[in-house]
This record gives sequence, C-alpha cells and structure tokens, in this order.
Amino acid sequence: MIEKLEPDLDFKRRIMDLDARDLSFCYQCGTCSTVCPISTADNPFPRKEMIWVQWGLKERALANPSIWMCHQCGECSAYCPRDAKPASVMAALRDYSIGHYAAPGFLGAALSEPKYLPLLFALPVAILLAILAGLDRLTALPEGRIVFAKLFPDFYVEALFDIAVGLAIVGALAGGVRYWLALRRGAADGGRDANLGAALAHVIADILRHGKFKRCNEDSVGTRPTHQTHLYKTHLAVFYGFLGLVATTTSVGIGIHFFGYLTPWPLWHPVKILGNVSGTALVAGLAVFLWHRIGEQARAQKSTYTDWLFLIVLLLAVASGFACESLRLAGLAALAYPTYFVHLTLVFFLLVYFPYSKFGHVVYRTAAMLYTQSLLDARSLVAGAPSAAK
Ligand code: SF4
Ligand code: SF4
Repeated sequence: MIEKLEPDLDFKRRIMDLDARDLSFCYQCGTCSTVCPISTADNPFPRKEMIWVQWGLKERALANPSIWMCHQCGECSAYCPRDAKPASVMAALRDYSIGHYAAPGFLGAALSEPKYLPLLFALPVAILLAILAGLDRLTALPEGRIVFAKLFPDFYVEALFDIAVGLAIVGALAGGVRYWLALRRGAADGGRDANLGAALAHVIADILRHGKFKRCNEDSVGTRPTHQTHLYKTHLAVFYGFLGLVATTTSVGIGIHFFGYLTPWPLWHPVKILGNVSGTALVAGLAVFLWHRIGEQARAQKSTYTDWLFLIVLLLAVASGFACESLRLAGLAALAYPTYFVHLTLVFFLLVYFPYSKFGHVVYRTAAMLYTQSLLDARSLVAGAPSAAK
C-alpha cells in the first residue's frame, strides 16, 4: 500500500527556530545513528528524525519514542560530517513535543513564549496577594520572632500547593496519555501488548540508576569532546536533590498535621538536614548545568528559552528557600518575609506549570522508555528469549 505523506513545512520552520537551523545540511550519511550510544538496531536515531523534520513529517517525528530516548550526550553532533547538529534537532523536537501534547494546549504555548512570562507569574502573585488581603496582612509585616506561618498560615500554604500539585498531576496525565496513544497509533503493528508492570519496574530502576546517562559516557565511540560528559553526575545531583526536597516537604506536612509539630524546625532535625543537603545538591547540579549551557552557547549545542526558564526558575526557587532560612536566622524580618513571598511564587510556578515546562520531560521520557521497554519485552516473548534492553 502506498502511504500518502502530508508535509507540514510550518513544523519544519518552527523546529529550525528552536536553535536547530543547521538541520538542512544533513545528507543522510547515518553516522549519527551509528555513534549514538543509546540508539538500537531496532530503532536507530537520530538520522531518521533529521529527514522527517526536513520533509515536515510532523506526526512521525513526534509520535516516536526516539526523541525522548535521546539523553542529549551530543555524540551525534560531535561526529556529524556536515555539522548539522542532530543533537540540537532532537532537543528542539522535545521542546516542540511538550507544547504539542500539552493539555490544555494554551499552557504549552504560553510556557514556550517569553511574552507570556509576566502573565504566568501574575497568577501566583495575584493568588498570594489575595490571601494576604483576605487575612488583612497586606499592609504590615508580622511582629516579633520571625515565623513564616504568621504571614501565610500553614493551612493556606498547604491548600494552595495541594491544588497546584493536583492541577499539575491532571495536566501531566492528560499530556502523557495523549503521547502514549500517539505512540501506539504511530507503531507499525499498532503497539503490542506486553506486561506493562514488569516494563515499568525495569524503567524505574533504570531511571534511579541513571543507566542511560551513564551509558552515554561509557559507550562513547571516540575521543571527540561532546561537552556533555558532565550530564550523568549533574543530572544525578539534581534528580536526587529534588527527590530529597519533595521528601522534606512531605515530612514537614506530616509533622504539622499528624503530630502538631509546628514550624520552624531546628537546624539539627533530621528532616531539616535532609532538606539542606538536598537543596545544596540541587543548587550545585543546577550551577553546573548553567555553567555548561553558557559555554555551549558558543559551541556545539545551543539552549532554548525553555531550557533557560526551567533552570533559572528552579535555581531561584531553591536559592530563595535558603535565603528565607538565612534571613530568618539573622532576624531580618523586613527582608525575610518578602523573600518568603518570592519563594512561594517560584515554587507555585514550578509546580503548577511543570507538565508544560522542561520539567515535562519527567512524563514524556518515562512514557517513551516504558513504551520502548514494553516493545522489547513483547518481542523477546515472541522470540522466547529474555529482553536485552540497551
Ligand atoms: S545528521 Fe549528520 S551524521 Fe546524521 S545523517 Fe545527517 S549528515 Fe549524517
Ligand atoms: S545526543 Fe546522544 S543520545 Fe541523543 S541522539 Fe545524539 S548521540 Fe544519541
């Protein structure tokens, strides 16, 4: 059967606008797919993505797990004989993909355009100001010992962030399901049935180990610099730092609700220590990311607006958390309370917009890894051999 191709040249233009201008230089030699440490014989990439974008084959390029299996090591760009920067094309496809599958779609568009940034920040600022107005705390700072709950009572903070997390989970599930269905529609065999539970366990173990980031370093084919060898350790620090902060926040919530253990907690408390160690790991990892991004601007790979937005807001959120703690300990109420307001604004921004920002990779990469692993498992069942995920 002859398949009718429907090129979308606007799609190609938009991918090129996401710092992937050089993709037209590609002459399909296949070197990139050969050197890629993650690509497999069953599903080689990024050569096919290069031609799909050149031809404007949007649905093929997006409804494919490859763009999220790529872990941005930069090996393909380092060895491309035409300097077509395939790693940048894969990154651009991921950026585009987050907006494409976002639900509601306008939030995906808003997070990718700098002009909407003031509006996106205006929402949490307006909500926090409305809470302060409702509590009649807009015009004067609390007096006496600095306790942030005097400005925003724990009940309001928790209710606000429970709503933000709830909305984010709904948005993440909606986007993830849309992508998953597109993957199944895009598969030649309509997607195969496999034990998703077993595949998910494999994927989670791989994510916790950062197995693919590690493989990018270990299976590098040569000695050309890719500028990305730091990724394994840097992403590990950010990942576990973030998980540590989530565990800290959850523990504080449990402590307040179930044990009446009101904040602020002493610095020597194990939960406080976990929070400070996790925050330090996160800041250190983000600083290394930023350092490399600045260097990459002038080298092989460039960063997009969404890369910068995600990194900077996350860094500011953690840094303002540390600043709140330091200003509270120093007794500087006039600075501590406004900094706490800024901190809450940044954390709300991160939480509620997470499925539509660079953070969305948590959803889409996990879905792509799960889909790929389930295909491998299904094929190995048919062949009667255990799967050998690369
Ligand atoms: S991106 Fe470069 S290495 Fe890959 S197929 Fe095109 S020309 Fe070859
Ligand atoms: S950046 Fe690395 S993982 Fe991604 S396609 Fe290129 S070589 Fe493969």
